[in-house]
Amino acid sequence: MARKPIIAGNWKLNKTIKEALELVGGIKEKVADVKDVDIVVGPVFTALSEVGKLTSGSNIGLSAQNLYWEEAGAFTGEVSATLLKDAGCQYVIIGHSERRQYFNETNETVNKKIKAALAQGLTPIVCVGENLEEREGEKTFDVVRDHVTNSLKGFSADEMKKMVIAYEPVWAIGTGKTATPDQAQEVHAFIRKLLNEMHDESVAESIRLQYGGSVKPDNIKDLISQKDIDGALVGGAGLKVDSFVGIIQGCLS
Ligand code: PEP
Repeated sequence: MARKPIIAGNWKLNKTIKEALELVGGIKEKVADVKDVDIVVGPVFTALSEVGKLTSGSNIGLSAQNLYWEEAGAFTGEVSATLLKDAGCQYVIIGHSERRQYFNETNETVNKKIKAALAQGLTPIVCVGENLEEREGEKTFDVVRDHVTNSLKGFSADEMKKMVIAYEPVWAIGTGKTATPDQAQEVHAFIRKLLNEMHDESVAESIRLQYGGSVKPDNIKDLISQKDIDGALVGGAGLKVDSFVGIIQGCLS
């Protein structure tokens, strides 16, 4: 099955509103003709609405980096799926390793957040992946199995097909160490096999799997040419127009 590549920039805790608008304005100009790659940017909460005005009606989608599962109420400091929709989002990154590491995100909270996102028609970009100790301890497949099966527990086949999964080996995030295309492909194929076991082939074959971890214009081609890699979740290289656009162009055949 041909899956459309999806390149998403996770801007993390970076960029004022002005800087965010400059970045997305530059990207927008350079990718205006791109039809064969889904392009997504993920600014901080405070810039979402302004960036959303600029991306509205364009070929660039808007993503938040997190959400809370409750709709409204006494949850100081939190932002719900409805409010993300209101700000113009179509996507939301859920379960990023930095949230698992610093903010106590667990498979259970990831699961609740995915449910809340889907209920509002947001596309969840669900992050999974092992850290260095787990990789060196040969636990990669156990950790990825745990993240995939427990974070994605209880969803129907139709709901599954609305998600994107990002495999991000934590040891490759922001370190300049990319997993080799073979290492990444091996885990992507494993995730697709798990999805087949959890559901069926139509789910496994239709879900797009992104790779994340030091993706740059000069390594994207080798990654995207792998059978089970359908795009990238990009951190550092997503903060500059030329490197982000270079990654998108690297996905065009
Ligand atoms: C990320 O934070 O999701 C990421 C992949 O970061 P980087 O591209 O900088 O490694």
